[in-house]
Amino acid sequence: MTAQIIDGKVIAADLRARVAQEVARVQRDHALTPGLAVVLVGSDPASEVYVRSKAKQTRAAGMVSFEHTLPADVAESDLLALVAQLNADPSVHGILVQLPLPRGLDSQKVIAAIDPAKDVDGLHPVNAGRLASGFNALTPSTPFGSIILTKTVHASLEGMNAIVIGRSNLVGRPLVQLLLNENATVTIAHSRTRDLPQLCRQADLVYAAVGRPEMVRGDWIKPGAVVIDVGINRLPAGADGKSRLVGDVAYDEAMQVAGAVTPVPGGVGQMTVACLLVNTLRAACAIKGLPAPAV
Ligand code: NDP
Repeated sequence: MTAQIIDGKVIAADLRARVAQEVARVQRDHALTPGLAVVLVGSDPASEVYVRSKAKQTRAAGMVSFEHTLPADVAESDLLALVAQLNADPSVHGILVQLPLPRGLDSQKVIAAIDPAKDVDGLHPVNAGRLASGFNALTPSTPFGSIILTKTVHASLEGMNAIVIGRSNLVGRPLVQLLLNENATVTIAHSRTRDLPQLCRQADLVYAAVGRPEMVRGDWIKPGAVVIDVGINRLPAGADGKSRLVGDVAYDEAMQVAGAVTPVPGGVGQMTVACLLVNTLRAACAIKGLPAPAV
């Protein structure tokens, strides 16, 4: 038996279409056009690709995209001044500073300068704290998308055993909080965890967010489990001269054991920008004092 493939591409396209519908509705009924400002510092090629894709999808959803590019050697005070300007701009409802920042810039300080109401990356300590306290919060897009993908397989995660491998502020920690909100029972694993394969085998839901190619093997997976592979790892070019993207899960092995698996690419990565659009729409409605949108 082979597992179901969770098609992030299709699920993300559907989510983007629902966002676009809601954007059209708030424009029509409330003269509100959500705006997302993305700040790119330096010229890291991977970041440039992400930023371009975010801007394109923002516009495709009917929102306004503001793009700001600063040189890698920008003074921290200039970056903070731009963030302050965006905080004050009523046409901007979401602010995202693309990470990682070049050396010499303190990302914690920059994130803390963003108005929490516009923090669509969900990384501001106020949003992280609200999420951890079980309150409404802007939530980092990748874990948010990972939960949506899981719920296409199981509408309710209540009482399920979940393991989250990785505890970063961007992925692992917020994912743990979202799973708790779904009433799952969560094990948090990291680089000091003992006997990870054994822990993994007890999980109905496996989330791999490590950054180690194909670390999670087929024999770590409980038969029928849902496997959400957050990892994106680029392998060096092989004999054919082409480099390859792989996740943190040995996909072919997992497909033989699991109930459902996300592919890499075409899984979680697809959801990240779609969920960023959801956050921007939610932030715009909250700032304008409107009820939360129906996405
Ligand atoms: P980080 O490097 O910030 O965190 C990695 C986590 O993995 C850490 O908590 C670390 O533990 C843990 N870890 C490292 N080695 C092991 C090990 N041998 N066993 C168990 N745990 C281990 O990475 P991110 O969270 O930012 O990203 C994780 C992966 O997700 C990366 O591949 C990244 O590219 C991908 N990613 C994908 C996105 C998407 O859109 N799909 C978006 C963001 C990230 P410790 O805390 O002890 O050091």
